[in-house]
Amino acid sequence: MRSGSATHSDRPNFLTIIRVALDTPLDFCFDYRWHPEDQAAAAPLVGQLALVPFGSREVVGLIVAVNVETTVPPDKLKDVLAIRSQLSALSDQWRALCVFAADYYQRPLGEVAIPGLPRNLRAIKTTALDRALKKLAKIEALHDATPAQMPVLNPEQQQAVDAIAGAQGFTPHLLYGVTGSGKTEVYLQAAAHVLAHFDDAQILILVPEINLTPQLEGSIRARFPGVAVATLHSSLAEGERMTHWLAAHLGQARIVLGTRLAILASLPKLQLIVIDEEHDPSYKQQEGLRYSARDLAVWRARQLEIPIVLGSATPSLESWQHAQTGRYRMLELRQRAVKAAVLPVVRLIDMEHNKPVDGLTPVLIAALKLRLERGEQSLLFLNRRGYAPVLACDACGWISNCSRCTAFMVLHKPEHRLRCHHCSLELRIPRSCPTCGNVDLQPLGRGTQRVEEGLQAIFPEARISRIDADSTRRKGSAQAAFDSVHRGEVDILIGTQMVAKGHDFKNLTLVGILNPDTALFSQDYRASERLFAQLMQVAGRAGRAAQKEGGSVSQVLIQTRYPQHPLYAAVVNHDYDHFANALLAERQQAHLPPYLYQALLRAEARELEIAIDFLKQAASAVEHAGIIINDPIPMTMTRVANVDRAQLLIECLSRPGLQSFLKIWLAMLRKIKTRAKWSLEVDPVDI
Ligand code: ADP
Ligand code: ZN
Ligand code: ZN
Repeated sequence: MRSGSATHSDRPNFLTIIRVALDTPLDFCFDYRWHPEDQAAAAPLVGQLALVPFGSREVVGLIVAVNVETTVPPDKLKDVLAIRSQLSALSDQWRALCVFAADYYQRPLGEVAIPGLPRNLRAIKTTALDRALKKLAKIEALHDATPAQMPVLNPEQQQAVDAIAGAQGFTPHLLYGVTGSGKTEVYLQAAAHVLAHFDDAQILILVPEINLTPQLEGSIRARFPGVAVATLHSSLAEGERMTHWLAAHLGQARIVLGTRLAILASLPKLQLIVIDEEHDPSYKQQEGLRYSARDLAVWRARQLEIPIVLGSATPSLESWQHAQTGRYRMLELRQRAVKAAVLPVVRLIDMEHNKPVDGLTPVLIAALKLRLERGEQSLLFLNRRGYAPVLACDACGWISNCSRCTAFMVLHKPEHRLRCHHCSLELRIPRSCPTCGNVDLQPLGRGTQRVEEGLQAIFPEARISRIDADSTRRKGSAQAAFDSVHRGEVDILIGTQMVAKGHDFKNLTLVGILNPDTALFSQDYRASERLFAQLMQVAGRAGRAAQKEGGSVSQVLIQTRYPQHPLYAAVVNHDYDHFANALLAERQQAHLPPYLYQALLRAEARELEIAIDFLKQAASAVEHAGIIINDPIPMTMTRVANVDRAQLLIECLSRPGLQSFLKIWLAMLRKIKTRAKWSLEVDPVDI
């Protein structure tokens, strides 16, 4: 018999059972039978992707074991449909990262490993994969333009670069640098060092939102023209996502710049990780696998024994604590990098004595006027989009509640709509009160649209631009809006937190902050940490270049009703150190993170009772030493889109203690019969 014609039955050693992780809510992997089409076909490898039947579908999964002993009876065992052999196997290290994340966040492995892959890689047909591989193979040498000049580092920057470049093995650094201190330059020169010292090194740079930081991508490309740079973020087209992911996986891309999802990229030659604005809440995924990209990055650096740099002007308290206790190496940049650029003067405007007109106090209006006369730019920050947060009837007390959520419908005047920001319900603005017929409905409060309207009335000649989620719905429109600010076509920019991050506006000398007070009294214990970071960020947009002759001293004006509040005092003094230390002391006393570890069980149902009832059963399912099980409570915003939501907080003084409890607990939760939909979050940030 010719060897090629061997059948499976008479050559049983050709039969291989492989175990595959699939993106399913079930917490185990599935076994399949593989037999080669011909004898020459290479046996499947752990880390390869395989197309397999699952129920009535065909899906792509990750091979986690080969030659396993299966408990599935032979007649139930299904065949692998295809091995994606054109793609090299995902590395052991990458799989270890997924295994860790799955274990830590208590999710199935497949749910961690598979969704992070480009969609085209998970497709049944391989046309897109084959095309992308061909395209990549053609990319040879890149353009050989002259690299942009490196500025001479100041001594603090140099020290930081030297520390990172000289680091051996796993070395976490906290690059604590005031806004405009040139953290980016430190990243770039540390990257240059790594690229020069390892032939094939890869560097991963994470940023909170890539669309808001195109300057960084520009700087990287200009600085390293001979180096392949790949970006990974959610707004890439599928085709692009695929080639960029492949470039990273194949080691062609030497620098990968991405948002949180890039932390799960395959980077076989990773030598340095940079997390810019490490405190930013967007590093936390808020649905599905609720991971912290920053925490996973630190884990990945430890696993690979490489340095990692966490940069921020206002580090998270977690990282700050690590730096204080010496677990992270602290690198400080205390000065602005541009010579003669100084931190702006921050002033509080007491709204009791300075009554606002159209939301703007006379002091702020005068400051805006001065900037207009001098041809300088101003930024007004208000973290509330729309025209007014509520529409109300004075006559009968009707207010624009959302019929589906515990929330108000927000008035959007230019769009002639009432919009719920939580369930996206939209209504035309009623002409008269739905309850009593009064035609004189009043907007209450103020959003960016209303401030814009007020500004136009006060400064009819000024070029005013509003940047928020509403004004930038079209793809590319945010970029275009920011470009026009950089080109000097805008006198006054008004925006939400979209304008606060990262931008290096050269001609901006005034920042006005409207209405930050609400966060002072939030019941979320993290609110003040976040508010402080946000205020420092937005304040940091002012005075980034040297003061011009006859130009203004750069200034930040905060309109508040609580000018005595210690948080504002810290902002005025640019004093993150004291503020952070005080907050940490408070947290330690009150037994809050980072001195305590938490998990949150969420449940939702059509009726609140169902959700609460499930949580009560969950709370009494198991007792465990050292675990604090709090009472189930409705969430602050209980109803969203006609679904009621409740939560149960679990706390423990030790991370391993919490982890081992969660494993036992989860197994019991799965046995509870309920109509509630539930999910568990480890290290929750929004409680
Ligand atoms: P950060 O990220 O710390 O807020 P950036 O990296 O945006 O600050 O730097 C602020 C400005 O300082 C940028 O315009 C940058 O080009 C400039 N800069 C950085 N380092 C130097 C340096 N060593 N000499 C001169 N200018 C510098
Ligand atoms: Zn009414
Ligand atoms: Zn709603």
